[in-house]
Amino acid sequence: MPKYDVVIIGSGLGGLLCGNILSKEGKSVCILEKQHQFGGNLQTFKRDGKIFDTGVHYVGGLSKGQNLHQYFKYTGIVDKLKLQRLNLDAFDKINFEGKTYSYAQGFDNFIETLTNDFPLEKNALKEYIKKIKKICSHFPLYNLRPNLGLDNEQKYYEQSIGDFIKSITPNKTLQNVLAGNNMLYAGIPNKTPVAIHALITNSLIEGAYRFKDGSQQIADLLVESIKNNGGTLINNSEVNKLEVNHGKVESAILSNGEIIEADYFISAIHPSLTLKMTDSKLLRKSYRSRINELEESISVFVVYFAFKPNSLKYFNYNYYHFNEDSVWSIPKYNQRKWPQEYLFLTPSSGSSGKFADTATAMTYMQYDEVKQWDNSGNGNRGIDYEEFKKQKAEKLINQIDMQYPGFKASINNYYTSTPLSLKDYTGTRNGSMYGIVHDCNNPLRTNIYPKTKIPNLLLSGQNINIHGVLGVTIGSIFTCTEMLGMEYLLEKINNA
Ligand SMILES: Cc1cc2nc3c(=O)[nH]c(=O)nc-3n(C[C@H](O)[C@H](O)[C@H](O)COP(=O)(O)OP(=O)(O)OC[C@H]3O[C@@H](n4cnc5c(N)ncnc54)[C@H](O)[C@@H]3O)c2cc1C
Repeated sequence: MPKYDVVIIGSGLGGLLCGNILSKEGKSVCILEKQHQFGGNLQTFKRDGKIFDTGVHYVGGLSKGQNLHQYFKYTGIVDKLKLQRLNLDAFDKINFEGKTYSYAQGFDNFIETLTNDFPLEKNALKEYIKKIKKICSHFPLYNLRPNLGLDNEQKYYEQSIGDFIKSITPNKTLQNVLAGNNMLYAGIPNKTPVAIHALITNSLIEGAYRFKDGSQQIADLLVESIKNNGGTLINNSEVNKLEVNHGKVESAILSNGEIIEADYFISAIHPSLTLKMTDSKLLRKSYRSRINELEESISVFVVYFAFKPNSLKYFNYNYYHFNEDSVWSIPKYNQRKWPQEYLFLTPSSGSSGKFADTATAMTYMQYDEVKQWDNSGNGNRGIDYEEFKKQKAEKLINQIDMQYPGFKASINNYYTSTPLSLKDYTGTRNGSMYGIVHDCNNPLRTNIYPKTKIPNLLLSGQNINIHGVLGVTIGSIFTCTEMLGMEYLLEKINNA
């Protein structure tokens, strides 16, 4: 094996983007992926000849001139993406206390559309948008600007989303509606920093898109570009040790004993898994305990539906339904009331026209509910587990059928995913959806930086910065600037 400039652990979006950027900038890179398929959460799977997304359903910021568009332009993939822009007047619909509210794209359109439902709240809605924009303007990389220092953005990690929304309006219904898609970040009102809500919401209002035929296309395009840049990607290669000598990581050791050497190592997997790979004293006990004790975001139960031909109409928006009088389901999670909320959507496919080929429904699920079947992905989990999944799926199907009459009759087949599926195949602790929980009550503890005390070991992926396609993209840029320089890389990106 040659010695590489950089070895990257994990081929999720974080690993692939770091690989793309560094190989583009002349480094020899090698990406090591434990699974057969590259992409992590970008992966799709096929059943009944239909494509299903696993971990990405829609994104913002992809219109020309917007942040994700420019980042993807630099990587060379933006013009090749097959996109479906969601409804301009309703990219998300929030069904709360029996009424449906729409989030529209474009800031004025967003305000006007919700003003139709809340005529007395126009000023509050204007204030909401003004503040969201202001918050986003403080994040340098979100605006493709060099880092201007952390103080800039830190205060928005210290305010909770719950307090922020209460400060906008005393109208409880509008408060709930404004937080209606909080499943996108597993929102907890007194913990989630307003920054996370603002960065995600702002990008979706600017431009919300689905990936036609699934998000695997991002992974495939990045893999192709890395290979074209001379990079190496190796699948079925689980890294389980980092050999540290003389204050540096010298090599990554695979589970089959193979040794891969490099000058730099980027770990784009959960940081607690990275820490397990070395007992180097350079990573202090306090750092290790801090990372290992961080709370993980909740997990999810997903049902993937394949429909009979021409049975359920495609709808070009995402539908969030709530059974409770609050959209903040996580603190009130209750197994007896399950499902308290769900997201239902019909992914866009090249073959679907008026009718949907498939749909996806997801709702929170705690790992503890499936813990008894956790045998770390080894073999069959037995009949009880199958029965559990079936019962849960039927419950969710009946709920959706009440909102979409005829839905149940349209189903040809369905498939399920539990916290164990997520745990087995992305390696997140307890099948956590989005990695670690950011806590505005202790932001410094829950914000993890790419640099470690081992000078040639960097971190990337959804736990650095923020999760999601945009968050992980920005996090990957942040990581790569440690090797390439902030000013240099941003100039290249802005001039792409
Ligand atoms: C159900 C669900 C829905 C989502 N919906 C959206 C959405 O609509 N929009 C959006 O923007 N985001 C969404 N997200 C979030 C988004 O998918 C993630 O934040 C992002 O893809 C994470 O990328 P990553 O590179 O950090 O990690 P991952 O995608 O988890 O990749 C990590 C990779 O590392 C590999 N790996 C782990 N350990 C090792 C090892 N020891 N050796 C080698 N390889 C290893 C794993 O196999 C995996 O391929 C969703 C997530 C989930 C779970």
